[in-house]
Amino acid sequence: VKSTGGNASLIYDEKMADPAFEYFALQGEFRKALIQNQFILHYQPKVNIETGEVIGVEALVRWNHPTKGLISPAIFIPLAEESGFIMELGAWVIEETCRQIRAWKEAGPFNIRVAVNVSVRQFIQQDVVILVKETLKKEGLPPNCLEIEITESVFVKHENIIQDAIANLQDIGIRVSIDDFGTGYASLSYLKQFRANTIKIDRSFIRSLPEMKDDAAIVSAVITLARKLNMDVVAEGVETKEQAEFLLGKGCSDVQGFYYSKPLPAEEVPKFLEKKSG
Ligand code: C2E
Ligand code: CA
Ligand code: CA
Ligand code: CA
Repeated sequence: VKSTGGNASLIYDEKMADPAFEYFALQGEFRKALIQNQFILHYQPKVNIETGEVIGVEALVRWNHPTKGLISPAIFIPLAEESGFIMELGAWVIEETCRQIRAWKEAGPFNIRVAVNVSVRQFIQQDVVILVKETLKKEGLPPNCLEIEITESVFVKHENIIQDAIANLQDIGIRVSIDDFGTGYASLSYLKQFRANTIKIDRSFIRSLPEMKDDAAIVSAVITLARKLNMDVVAEGVETKEQAEFLLGKGCSDVQGFYYSKPLPAEEVPKFLEKKSG
């Protein structure tokens, strides 16, 4: 069993050791998996550590594979992007999230925003704005119940498409975050090009806080930068009290991480909200 960082783990068997074999085996199974409801969403709370309030949750997809167990999205999302399956999976994630929000709302008070991850590739391959609009309408939900986190694993051109999509989402009242800020391609040029509402500081900068002076300097600079650009900032991957205190001291009160909660199955979310609010 190889730990993949989240609460999901990927179980390898001997004959899966060949990466090429695994690649094609997984690709072929995607469509069947979707039909058989093997994909599930877990929801990780985002907490304001100054007020103690839960400000939102992030929907994170998992593949509950019948023989391999829970497979991390870090493994299958890149494969889904390459094969084009991300269009179907991405649509399912948005639809399932909206269905879930409606179910939560029907069961009791539920006023927090739910963030959905959409990769840059998805914006190019499908009309995310129309998909989101239609799904909200279908479920009878207001746009402010949803947020889009833009993730990036490979460099893709067509910045204009993404820029327009962000503007169109914001026009209909949906907030947009830049995910994994500071890693890969999600860098300073993104801030200028994409007028997002929120920056999410990647976990890799948070991990060795507060001891690592370099990371501490980068994190406090990003917090300052966000404030100057009138953007909100969320720190990802907060695992310790010391990290939380450091962030609060620098003026970043919105955090997400195992210290507060792991991603939770849908049915545990209302309980978590209740516990936090009193
Ligand atoms: P992400 O969007 O950066 O999501 C945060 C990841 O960090 C999640 O991993 C979460 O479980 C993990 N995490 C949260 N807090 C902590 C912590 O304190 N410590 C540690 N070690 N890890 C923490 P997960 O669920 O495995 O997701 C991995 C990535 O897969 C996500 O990274 C996102 O880029 C992608 N992903 C997940 N769901 C979707 C989806 O529906 N669509 C797309 N396009 N990508 C998705
Ligand atoms: Ca994310
Ligand atoms: Ca992230
Ligand atoms: Ca990430």
